[in-house]
Amino acid sequence: MLKPVIGLEVHAQLSTETKLFCSCSTDHENVPPNTNVCPICMGFPGVLPVLNKKAVEFAIKAGLALNCEISNYSKFDRKNYFYPDLPKGYQISQYDLPLCKNGYLEIFVDGEVKKIRIKRIHLEEDAGKLLHIGTGDRLSEADYSLVDFNRAGIPLIEIVTEPDINSPQEARIFLQELRLILRYLEISSGDMEKGSLRCDANISIQTQEGVLGTRTEIKNVNSFYSLEKALEYEIERQIELLKNGEQVIQETRHWDEKKQKTVSLRGKEEAEDYRYFPEPDLPPLIVTEEMKEKIKKEIPVLPKELRRKYFALGLLPNEVEIIISERELAEFFDKSLVLYTNPKNLLNWISVEILSYLNDNNMSFKDLNILPEKFIKLIQMVDKNEITRPVAKDVLRKYLTTGKDPEKIVEEEGLKTVSDTSYLQEVIQKVILNNEKAVSDWKKGKKQVLNFLVGQVMKETKGRASLDLVKNLLEEELNKL
Ligand code: ADP
Ligand code: MG
Ligand code: ZN
Repeated sequence: MLKPVIGLEVHAQLSTETKLFCSCSTDHENVPPNTNVCPICMGFPGVLPVLNKKAVEFAIKAGLALNCEISNYSKFDRKNYFYPDLPKGYQISQYDLPLCKNGYLEIFVDGEVKKIRIKRIHLEEDAGKLLHIGTGDRLSEADYSLVDFNRAGIPLIEIVTEPDINSPQEARIFLQELRLILRYLEISSGDMEKGSLRCDANISIQTQEGVLGTRTEIKNVNSFYSLEKALEYEIERQIELLKNGEQVIQETRHWDEKKQKTVSLRGKEEAEDYRYFPEPDLPPLIVTEEMKEKIKKEIPVLPKELRRKYFALGLLPNEVEIIISERELAEFFDKSLVLYTNPKNLLNWISVEILSYLNDNNMSFKDLNILPEKFIKLIQMVDKNEITRPVAKDVLRKYLTTGKDPEKIVEEEGLKTVSDTSYLQEVIQKVILNNEKAVSDWKKGKKQVLNFLVGQVMKETKGRASLDLVKNLLEEELNKL
């Protein structure tokens, strides 16, 4: 038996306005280096940290959404280590009494539900950022390094799973689902490329039931794709070792994106290496029942429940994933469904017309100014053959770009569908005269030129002609020749 066993340690930056223990802004990307800093987050002697209430609420929210027990009593500890991005020489974290514990997250893998237990969620502060200047982007390749402390002290939650994950695919799905939930809760942007969601992956190979193998921890996985690739590589490496009768060494390994392999970084540090001890400058963290109840009420309907609801409407899994991919999109879908009772058609409009617009403009749904009633009105105009689908597509884009009422656009630009037979026949005659080659092809039996000719008529009428009518009339005319 060779079974991969995986546990993830995920760090998510909380989207609070200010840092975890001081009033510095958490903006660390749009300002020059070392500007959002103060004596507290720079670790000057004699300063005292003050806990950010919002960060605690966000962490509790995450805990509740991930089915955790929220500790009424928890505390902060110092994790000591030396590194240039850590001005105090220790990180304020939570060690033996985390804020949340014993939760779980359900994921869907190949149509089945799998429960991944969450061991703990704790609050801690982020470190600064090192910029290594040299041939590569790593310390070992650098001529010198620059330090930016804007990020030092930004609140993080660390979410630690039990080793319940058994494949790279499951690990990726878990992380994607986790990110989706954090976004629904509006507590983290969850952006892996920007480092606001970071993941360390612990992986071992189990050779006998009930006994865990020796694990390695992979760092530097910066995308869902790398997570899967790094785990695949590491599983293969460990299996190879075991097959050769060698042993896996417990260590931390670095995922080398360029080489697509993991390399040894350092031996595994033990908890005692960090000399954890209680943070003397912060009182214990007490969470009251009232506080929990208040936060519980703020939790929106989560993806899991939405999936159930949309499956019941007869939507397919891939269709449902489109709708729930953004909370604002799901809300829009719900509001639209009140006005329009055909979910499949609605989904088609959203996935074809709206998502392509978002894609073209590199936007997400929440950036859109779109009202369900205007959108539905437009769809209904197509349903009633008042405008054609190509016209509707243009009108929708114009509406999304300018905010101008779709009905007004149709009215003012005279875009209503043309089904005036004599006018269409005139256009058809013109198209026949101007396309001798296609017409002679038709006569020779090349029936597929019909589509081309229909296209010409549509072009002449600026997409406003009723498609079926044009087809019929055109065929009639061609047959007369
Ligand atoms: P530590 O305190 O050394 O960081 P933890 O017990 O907190 O260790 O585990 C860290 C992560 O490693 C967790 O996600 C856990 O599920 C995972 N893990 C622990 N043992 C193994 C193992 N043998 N194989 C794979 N993952 C493991
Ligand atoms: Mg750990
Ligand atoms: Zn500060």
